[in-house]
Amino acid sequence: MPIPASVPHEAGDMVDRRIVPDLRWIAARYPIYVTDGYSGPLPGGRHVGCNLCHVRNSDHYNGLAVDIVPLGGSSRCDASWRPISRLARWAEPRQNRPRPPFRWVGYDGDAGHGCGNHLHLSWEHAVAPMFKLAQWVEVFPVARQGAAKQPQPSPPQTPPSGVKPPKGPRGGSEAEPGVGDGPQGGVSTVQSGGVSPHGD
Ligand SMILES: [Zn+2]
Repeated sequence: MPIPASVPHEAGDMVDRRIVPDLRWIAARYPIYVTDGYSGPLPGGRHVGCNLCHVRNSDHYNGLAVDIVPLGGSSRCDASWRPISRLARWAEPRQNRPRPPFRWVGYDGDAGHGCGNHLHLSWEHAVAPMFKLAQWVEVFPVARQGAAKQPQPSPPQTPPSGVKPPKGPRGGSEAEPGVGDGPQGGVSTVQSGGVSPHGD
């Protein structure tokens, strides 16, 4: 689906709809500008994003990665990049140990990425061929209660590390692009019932 206006982005950029709530959450807290999301063909013979500019099997080809620069920032590593650096540290507290649900975070220490260049975020997902939607995607649950005001990166409730979503689609992760704009996202656990027995 197209990236919504609440997430500043380059015109025409698209992503898998299942990561949109996470992107909204990030955009409400960090001054991000998305320069690339999904790259590849679209139904109807159109094309979006750069043409095979990412590494082979990049998550960009599944719509599950974004490249980020500071909104209104410069292409030099200056003060405008400070919030992006904070976001990068939040998503990847230690090099090559990204916080779930992120699969790979490209920033300082990764060739072609970093302050003054760009931040790459990709989400953990089922193995999928290029240009196909993944069967499942890990996202962090986003509470729908307005934007928080504090500038501190307050981590959302991430799923406990090590939790692996089951194979196959779950609620909210149907592999259908571009249908509606529901707030339901991804693999956050849905509690059902909690019914207590009657009487006794
Ligand atoms: Zn990227």
